[in-house]
Amino acid sequence: MKKNEEANQGLFLWLAWFAVLLLLIVLTLLFYLFYPRLYQIHQYLPVIFGIIEILILIPITGGLLLITISVTSGKDLLYPHGKKQITVRTLFPIVLFLGQFLKISKDRIRSSYVAVNDSIIRVTRNRISADKILMLLPHCLQNHECPWKITIDIRNCHHCGKCEIGDLIKMAEHYGVDLRIATGGTIARKVAAELKPTAIIAVACQRDLTSGITDAYPIPVFGILNKRPNGPCYDTWVSLDKIEEAFEFFSRNKLVKRDHKGSDNNED
Ligand code: SF4
Repeated sequence: MKKNEEANQGLFLWLAWFAVLLLLIVLTLLFYLFYPRLYQIHQYLPVIFGIIEILILIPITGGLLLITISVTSGKDLLYPHGKKQITVRTLFPIVLFLGQFLKISKDRIRSSYVAVNDSIIRVTRNRISADKILMLLPHCLQNHECPWKITIDIRNCHHCGKCEIGDLIKMAEHYGVDLRIATGGTIARKVAAELKPTAIIAVACQRDLTSGITDAYPIPVFGILNKRPNGPCYDTWVSLDKIEEAFEFFSRNKLVKRDHKGSDNNED
């Protein structure tokens, strides 16, 4: 893994551990404050309250520990997969709140979250089927002067070279990936529901990617951030190298799966 990717995902992980510590302090404080009143009602109530708090903390702390070890060591310890979602869904708003408090921009935290998510996809590759990959692109990648309606059908692109859409279409065809333009989260969800992909490669800004990754669950979403040199949602671009890297990753995965299937069949 490249050093800047490690540093990028480190921010989310550090803040997430900080959030767990805060959660622990809040729950201990609540237990301390409620203990006398609960005991007055019934002697077993404080015990039940304590058990509930422990049941909240265990999946979150355990999930974060497994995520941290997995993404730093590159070893897949994330079984069952759902634990990652419980952890991230619970901690993400607390992490954003902490970031605000520490004057860290939301976009930096979201970028870091996307980096963690992509690392999780890399380490869990053996559990991801790459048979049907869908790539979702934001409409703002299209040059603003382009007259062709690529949102209706991406094949309307005339490959003029003014934006990267033409190159992306060629790359997607080469790797056998279904390519669609999503003008928003609702369309993205609709396309995913129609095509039922086994995995998604999504290009978007920090906010749309983080919500897309969460919304698409249980479909794994490999996120690639777009660049916005002209401001938000206007003539954006994306690193074609990163796209190719993602295509290569999933096509290698497909080959590995086929090899496994092939050897299984031979054994039969
Ligand atoms: S490459 Fe395609 S989408 Fe981009 S400006 Fe040219 S015709 Fe339009």
